[in-house]
Amino acid sequence: MPERGMLIVLSGPSGVGKGTVRQAMMNSGFRDFKYSVSMTTRKMRPGEVDGVDYYFRTKEQFEEEIANGQMLEYAQYVGNYYGTPLRYVNETLDQGRDVLLEIEVNGAMQVRAKCPDAAFIFLTPPDLDELKHRLEGRGTDDQATIERRVAKAVGELKMMSNYDYAVVNDKVELAVERIESIIKSEHLRVQRV
Ligand code: 5GP
Repeated sequence: MPERGMLIVLSGPSGVGKGTVRQAMMNSGFRDFKYSVSMTTRKMRPGEVDGVDYYFRTKEQFEEEIANGQMLEYAQYVGNYYGTPLRYVNETLDQGRDVLLEIEVNGAMQVRAKCPDAAFIFLTPPDLDELKHRLEGRGTDDQATIERRVAKAVGELKMMSNYDYAVVNDKVELAVERIESIIKSEHLRVQRV
């Protein structure tokens, strides 16, 4: 049996660029991990593909998955459910492959409780003005939703102390480099018995 893979949790406030950093990691030479596609009840954005960006499901379908114990973690985020299907994560880790989750902070804390050995990485914006600017630039949310996301980010930033690593997303390539070195170091960690 191969050694079990490592679970890597990339989290941080919405708009900080988690998705962009994750995509850049997947496109870089450093592809030594599998990305766990999340499930959500939010509407599909233009260009998104079911099963690639998310598994887009109805509220009823999502709640059934929760009731059946199929979610590793889940959270309600600005009016929608988001969560990580458990089976893919377990099967991939069992194959000896690392798994990357890109999730918001409440979900990350649930994973922390269930999988304390995972590596927890908090991606931070250089500052809050920059975060608002990025959400506006993305053009995917109306102004009220942006205000809600920024207000939520203020609370989310306070969660940083619950993580193992903090990575500033000033430049995507730099953030990716920092995360890759974290993953490499985590693999060299001596297991204490
Ligand atoms: P968006 O609507 O912008 O795609 O995502 C909103 C927030 O939900 C982001 O912070 C994103 O990282 C987070 N998110 C995506 N997938 C999951 C998941 O499986 N679980 C949790 N807890 N959050 C998720």
